[in-house]
Amino acid sequence: MFHSLQKLPLWIILAVGFLFSSCSSTSTLQHPTTSATLWTQNAAEYDALTTMVYRTATSNLAMAIEDSYWTAYPNQEDQDIRSLPPAIILDVDETVLDNSPFQARMIKQNSSFNLQQWNDWVMEAKANPVPGAVKFTQRAANQGVAIFYLTNREAKVEEGTRQNLKELGFPLSENEDRILSNNERENWTSAKTERRAFVAQSHRIIMLFGDDLNDFVSAKDISQKERAQLVKKNQDKWGRFWYVLPNPVYGSWESALYNFDDSLSPAQIDSAKKERLNTKKN
Ligand SMILES: [Mg+2]
Repeated sequence: MFHSLQKLPLWIILAVGFLFSSCSSTSTLQHPTTSATLWTQNAAEYDALTTMVYRTATSNLAMAIEDSYWTAYPNQEDQDIRSLPPAIILDVDETVLDNSPFQARMIKQNSSFNLQQWNDWVMEAKANPVPGAVKFTQRAANQGVAIFYLTNREAKVEEGTRQNLKELGFPLSENEDRILSNNERENWTSAKTERRAFVAQSHRIIMLFGDDLNDFVSAKDISQKERAQLVKKNQDKWGRFWYVLPNPVYGSWESALYNFDDSLSPAQIDSAKKERLNTKKN
């Protein structure tokens, strides 16, 4: 073998070598979300973490239902909510449904987010449940809590979301649409603020669940520093009224690294991210 290789002209050997090295430079390990996706799909710690979040919520559930003044929604603090039935609001993606198989497909295709492919995935209705979420929501529903799913999935693919949730055993109402999708009604924007206000008209919101700061409070396009301040300002809410699920793959935390500037090239995003790598103690 080696002997026959020696007979090949040098330029062919170099060309083949270059071809192999350029193949390896587009390896899945270089996709920006590979490590985060591998962690979500394979780390036992991911399952432990989400289970911990939902078990903590379970231990607060009886108290939240019984205390008629208990609310997770700041705008309800000054409202007479004692006669309103309790409700829980959960985000969908990476809060109750795990879409890491969709992410894994993108990595294998070496592609980035595409709305059409995403909507096709939603209509497949094949997302996994986030560990702990089904058991918790069933328990809350059995105790008379209305479960609302507040998602930035588009209204036109809501049937896919409903089928996916239903097949996994998530509680849904027979009489009322409790999946509140993006733009399902005129003023329901991706900011989610209006949809939380909509639920608050008829229910006492006892808990909020999400993987993004915007699932709890309006935090659209604010800086990384302001995001950290919002978390601190609301520190008494975490683990009591507000429950956050881990999402290292995507979210406003990631867009905040480059100030939500979609006009930047991948190279510019890369260098903005590099600047965020802190090599000194804070
Ligand atoms: Mg989400």
